Amino acid sequence: MKDPNCIFCKIANGEIPTNTVYEDDHFRAILDAGPATKGHTLILPKEHAANLFELPEDMAAEAMKVAKKVGEMLKEKLHADGLNLVQNNGEVAGQTVHHFHIHVIPRFEGDGQKIGWNPKSPTAEEQEAILKEIL
Ligand code: AMP
Ligand code: ZN
Repeated sequence: MKDPNCIFCKIANGEIPTNTVYEDDHFRAILDAGPATKGHTLILPKEHAANLFELPEDMAAEAMKVAKKVGEMLKEKLHADGLNLVQNNGEVAGQTVHHFHIHVIPRFEGDGQKIGWNPKSPTAEEQEAILKEIL
């Protein structure tokens, strides 16, 4: 299903022209309009899913295959030194466009970008308590 109010639905399905680096039956990969680095690409499913939780399992598996293919292409063609895959779900997690997408971010020595978090130092007891909550 496409969402008529979703810009990434329109982009993924070719209704809004964009810079496509890869396309198949289910996905389009485009250059991010506000790239972190040269070649920063977004992988968009053609069917609307707001986030990972809404994405069907087979499409999630396909998305990772596309990420591998696109990541390898960017690494080779742009001579990247490394690569980040980033995938945000929910505003609290930094998602701004609510159509599932994977960021494929080529990394270059000295590119000045930082993708990360502030590591905490939980005790063994705290980790155990978390495990209990999860399992
Ligand atoms: P996120 O914060 O994970 O939801 O990422 C949304 C990304 O979409 C950002 O990196 C934006 O720069 C990018 N973006 C938003 N609108 C467009 C657009 N029309 N074309 C290409 N990239 C876009
Ligand atoms: Zn959409």
